[in-house]
Amino acid sequence: MSTPTSHSTLDQAQQRYAASLMNTFGPPKLQLVRGEGAHVWDADGNEYVDYLGGIAVNALGHAHPALVEAVTTQLQTLGHVSNFFTTEPQVELAEKLLELVGGGTRADGRVFFTSSGTEANEAAFKLTRRTGRTHVVATDGGFHGRTMGALALTSKEAYRTPFAPLPGDVTFVPYGDADALAAAVTDETAAVLVEPIQGEAGVVVPPAGYLAAARSIADEHGALLWVDEVQTGMGRTGRWFAGEGVRADIVTVAKGLGGGFPIGACIGLGEAGALLQPGNHGTTFGGNPVACAAGLAVIRTIEAEGLLERATTLGERLRTGLATDDRVTEVRGAGLMIGLDISAEAAAEVVAAGLRHGFVLNNTTPSRIRLVPPLVLTDADVDALLAAWPAILDDAYAAASEAAAGKDS
Ligand SMILES: *Cc1c(COP(=O)(O)O)cnc(C)c1O
Repeated sequence: MSTPTSHSTLDQAQQRYAASLMNTFGPPKLQLVRGEGAHVWDADGNEYVDYLGGIAVNALGHAHPALVEAVTTQLQTLGHVSNFFTTEPQVELAEKLLELVGGGTRADGRVFFTSSGTEANEAAFKLTRRTGRTHVVATDGGFHGRTMGALALTSKEAYRTPFAPLPGDVTFVPYGDADALAAAVTDETAAVLVEPIQGEAGVVVPPAGYLAAARSIADEHGALLWVDEVQTGMGRTGRWFAGEGVRADIVTVAKGLGGGFPIGACIGLGEAGALLQPGNHGTTFGGNPVACAAGLAVIRTIEAEGLLERATTLGERLRTGLATDDRVTEVRGAGLMIGLDISAEAAAEVVAAGLRHGFVLNNTTPSRIRLVPPLVLTDADVDALLAAWPAILDDAYAAASEAAAGKDS
């Protein structure tokens, strides 16, 4: 892997960025110009293995021919029509999603398409109101998006406080604790909302049986079970859905669905699929034929290239390999959704060192790393990270202790 030699191009890009874009994300770490497979290149010609994948989005990596072909052909044929009309890709993707949610046989349900994860959750949130109840039980550390409704269901105070008051009647319970959930859900509860594995929290896996417990608790009170698969869905964990095997009333998906093309979906199952009626909800872009063609291409390619099995195999190799370094204190996850804790508060330094060694990594907390690479990651890409890992940690720990020494003096 190459090492950045000059930052002049990046400096310039950062200055122009800061002058013209709202400062919601902090300064960009790189200016990227090109991608292929699980690799990206920056404006200075440096190459990186992309272990972030656009935050669990680029399931097929970058510039996958099947995705390029599907999007290009659809755009050349019919690019957008509004929801006064339908198109073949839209109906076909809805049918395909119901089939995948049903574990191979079509589930009884209905799909509402959106352009993002937070909008999929907004649709679901409105859907839950149509039960006639308003109370929702969600989890500490859960993340469901940044729009006002989805934010009301997201526990993190730093995200919520500046925007109060948010839609109310939400109770947060500790994640993974079925007893706490049972105590919080009542006959007034519209829905129980959970991620099968928490992503933004740093890949937190609940105890076995948690989702099934949530199902029976919801059933006891006539509440809906709403599973947010925005990050875990579409093959990320080595299965189509991480919550497979537990019947949900609502499943929301987005991130990996379009492989980089913006699309999300709120899937209502059984009676929940009929709760939103004409006039209740809408979208201009959701269900756009180009986005739906992208979704179909992603699903077909995952099937054709056996990417679920690949995610499982590569994920196991990565988790085992990364854990061999003593500075890694815990490794979690499933498939290519991997979280790891390190022994020092040096996660930001690990990400910076990763870039110097030619890897895009991600930190979710001061001591937590998240890896959500494309499902088309190769064995060579895995070998490369495992080979560089001790040196990345060396660099990161050195940088962190230098910073600490600087603070002390
Ligand atoms: C990313 C994410 C969202 C929000 O999706 P956006 O497309 O960023 O709006 C919602 N839920 C989960 C679990 C996510 O990981």
